[in-house]
Amino acid sequence: MNTIIEPFRIKAVEPLRLTTRQERQHALRAAGYNLFGLDADDVIIDLLTDSGTGAMSQEQWAAIMRGDESYAGSRSWFGFSDRVRDIFGYEHIIPTHQGRAAERILFSLVGEPGKIIPNNTHFDTTRANVEHSGARAVDVVADAGRDPATELPFKGDVDVERLRRLIVEAGPEKFPLVMLTVTNNAGGGQPVSMANVRAVSELVHGFGIPLYFDACRFAENAYFIQQREQGYRHKSAREIAREMFALGDGCTMSAKKDGMANIGGFLATNDADLAARARNILILTEGFPTYGGLAGRDLEAIAQGLDEVLQQDYLEYRIASTTYLCDHLHAKGVPMLRPAGGHAVYIDAAGFLPHIPKAQFPGQALACALYEHAGIRGCEIGSVMFGDNAPMELVRLAIPRRVYTQSHIDYVVESVLEVFANRGDLRGYEITWEPPNLRHFTCKFQPLSS
Ligand SMILES: *Cc1c(COP(=O)(O)O)cnc(C)c1O
Repeated sequence: MNTIIEPFRIKAVEPLRLTTRQERQHALRAAGYNLFGLDADDVIIDLLTDSGTGAMSQEQWAAIMRGDESYAGSRSWFGFSDRVRDIFGYEHIIPTHQGRAAERILFSLVGEPGKIIPNNTHFDTTRANVEHSGARAVDVVADAGRDPATELPFKGDVDVERLRRLIVEAGPEKFPLVMLTVTNNAGGGQPVSMANVRAVSELVHGFGIPLYFDACRFAENAYFIQQREQGYRHKSAREIAREMFALGDGCTMSAKKDGMANIGGFLATNDADLAARARNILILTEGFPTYGGLAGRDLEAIAQGLDEVLQQDYLEYRIASTTYLCDHLHAKGVPMLRPAGGHAVYIDAAGFLPHIPKAQFPGQALACALYEHAGIRGCEIGSVMFGDNAPMELVRLAIPRRVYTQSHIDYVVESVLEVFANRGDLRGYEITWEPPNLRHFTCKFQPLSS
């Protein structure tokens, strides 16, 4: 049997509104051709992000009813912190309303001008929080991680030699910590191998520098290690996750990803002094240390989600679904970032639309065409988002957890292939208005006539 089925059936149904092409053309024009400006009700298949968009299980909804909303020392807090400690292994746990709040607290404590924070690839909020503290964010992913076409199992790996040189040249005292993002979201959702984590851990600990994880997709990363790295085939994702976290000293986490919840996050650390200072900031801006920015019911949903995300049948289905989408498009000649990431697939828009120059935003043209043709919302990750610094022109299709079925994914495959067959008709865009920074969220476009 080849078919990997969804390991769940559907109990509550959220209707999709099936729009016409004409309605979508109207909505697109009204949004200034910026997909962030659409009403979500006008989207049929929403692949804008996998963050907070997943479906919760019956056990999570039941746990929500059991939420204890006591201000201090609630039952839900003890359940949550026990679960986090069991999987991540770190002593001190600081709940936050989402991942970037954990980042802000961590980097406001360890970052300052003159300090350097290396990471395989900083996610945009991580980089922004590092830079906001005055520290410098440096990406040290190995070269393969910057090349869309190379088929390698662990394209999230750090170039350990480059990291060693960076530390030796600047001096270890400049490095309050080194970070590893698992999986590497900004680098195509590519995993980091256990061997690489171990090498980074030995290197930085040799210099007395702590290692922290940006752990948002730790379960997907553990599954890739189980499937692709020698010696892990018979270990559970939970055992692999524990082994990996034991090589570090703490983590930041967005529970909107592998927490399987719609909101939430945390900072975890073995450093008691750092934790005490983090709790002071937490009380100032997020809430009392036994709930952070969360309700008791949110803590319950996350505790349950962290258990479900490590289940083998879930992970098998999750990665099969992303891989299926990427492989089917790749087989029909659509230029893709390879291999498929854990949470998303990335279409190489520059290869898809070679007649549209970078300055006319091929990624935007493709994202708009997919919406107009089929009501699918993806996300441009290229010159609109990064300006002249864009390393690639990509359209990301992120897959929300447990939300769409096989036939939804087949619909996405067919729609992309139809747009691909008529790609010569697509035209570029120009920007007619933009804000001073993070322009991709709000800028307005106009299609070019030729
Ligand atoms: C989403 C994400 C964050 C930030 O988390 P939020 O919950 O969106 O604030 C940080 N790092 C990575 C790798 C992420 O994917």
